[in-house]
Amino acid sequence: MHHARSHVAGRWYESAGLTRQPIFSPATGQSIGEVELIDAAGLDAALASAAEGFEVWRRKTGYERAALMREAVAILRSRKGDIARLMTLEQGKPLADAAGEIATSADNIEWMAEEATRAYGRLLVPRTTGIAQTVRREPIGPVAAFCPWNFPALTPARKIAGALAAGCSLILKPSEETPLTAAEVVRAFLDAGLPPHVLNLVYGAPRQVSEHLIGAEAIRKISFTGSTAVGKQLLGLAAQGVKRATMELGGHAPVIVFDDVDPVQAARQAVAAKFRNAGQVCTSPTRFYVQRGIYARFVDAFAEAASTLRVGDGLSPDTQMGPLANERRLEAMVSLTAATRADGGRLVCGGTPLEGAGYFFPPTVFADVPDSARIMNEEPFGPIVPIAPFDQVDEAIRRANRLPYGLAAYAMTRSLSRASLASEALEAGMVCINHFTVSTPSSPFGGVKESGYGSEGGVEGLDAYLVTKSVTQRST
Ligand code: NAD
Repeated sequence: MHHARSHVAGRWYESAGLTRQPIFSPATGQSIGEVELIDAAGLDAALASAAEGFEVWRRKTGYERAALMREAVAILRSRKGDIARLMTLEQGKPLADAAGEIATSADNIEWMAEEATRAYGRLLVPRTTGIAQTVRREPIGPVAAFCPWNFPALTPARKIAGALAAGCSLILKPSEETPLTAAEVVRAFLDAGLPPHVLNLVYGAPRQVSEHLIGAEAIRKISFTGSTAVGKQLLGLAAQGVKRATMELGGHAPVIVFDDVDPVQAARQAVAAKFRNAGQVCTSPTRFYVQRGIYARFVDAFAEAASTLRVGDGLSPDTQMGPLANERRLEAMVSLTAATRADGGRLVCGGTPLEGAGYFFPPTVFADVPDSARIMNEEPFGPIVPIAPFDQVDEAIRRANRLPYGLAAYAMTRSLSRASLASEALEAGMVCINHFTVSTPSSPFGGVKESGYGSEGGVEGLDAYLVTKSVTQRST
């Protein structure tokens, strides 16, 4: 049985009477261990620790911070196989995808370590002789970072990387549903020799933890990845203390497929992207608008590729799509399938949970889904996809932009002018044309509208943890 506990002020946190919560394997529905939920005294200790850690870490040079981060990267890479197994066990994704996530997490930390040496300020041209004017970039202070369960390594890794590179300390609250992977990411930094107090790890009752931490004076910035509904609550708390926030919230990414592409090839490419992590990805391509001339062939090819995906336990080597991460998502898929039928969608494949233990739902494709359907308005966050035809280019763009979300958006076309139009007109933080890899360590990851603000990754991801100080000095 696995056991997860918080790591506070340089120690694995222990206290009498802590509540324990089971950790479930989504492939079996059985408990695989327990996570201990921190108490208020533990949170206070984490806050005091983060304040102390900030004083230590901000004084390190960018080169010292980078060296430590690179050491953690080497450790993560050397433990990739073991951590990937834990991730598959607690989250469900296929083992190869879990290993890929650890590799990507390491790449992100490595890239940000390099940026730690490039947090440049500016030297201004003064208007008066004898005045020196500089603009400095300084770490914002202790950070509270909240992560969800769909990418149990990558989301913590991105937040830790940006904060540490900038010189901030942090308190990380991963999801209590996938605590084992996040603990291993933190352990890599501890084993690399990160000074105590710089990185604290807490598991607890989410609302209690976020209210306690965001309300505390020590915390200067919050970073949250999760649903728009929870993001709004946390922003409200942050506003009370005028705290900076990076919000990576939900999405409902449109995909415009123009009639100049090969529908079969486009559908196969889209299927691989859509069902990654069983569709539980905030940038997942989730609403397909396909131009009428290729619509029928696209729907057929999409359903064929989707229905041949091998669904099973992520630990089995031939599995291409694992279970949903928790029972709530399975229930959500059942409800969304019924709603899409009632809303006029035509079921082409899937639609019924798989028999037996675990939270398995098959790739499910609906065609002819009207924009009024619930699924065209609510992020599915699972392996269900609605497809609808369109006629005019302007119409497709308008329908793509009609939701309050704006995280990722996709277009498929061989026409340069259509590609340019889509890049310009799609309201999203990330636009991807003719492929589905929205994010790399050097690209800013973030959304517009109710998908949030601020970026992780890229130079923007370092900037997110820095404040600007203008200094003007007269020589005596
Ligand atoms: P949820 O809204 O209850 O929780 C989303 C995440 O926020 C979870 O990790 C949860 O532990 C955390 N959370 C909840 N309340 C919190 C609080 N008060 N303070 C701090 N953290 C809190 O939903 P869920 O059932 O876990 O997931 C369902 C929905 O969440 C999905 O439909 C999807 O829209 C969204 N989601 C988005 C992402 C993303 O990457 N943007 C990731 C996971 C879930």
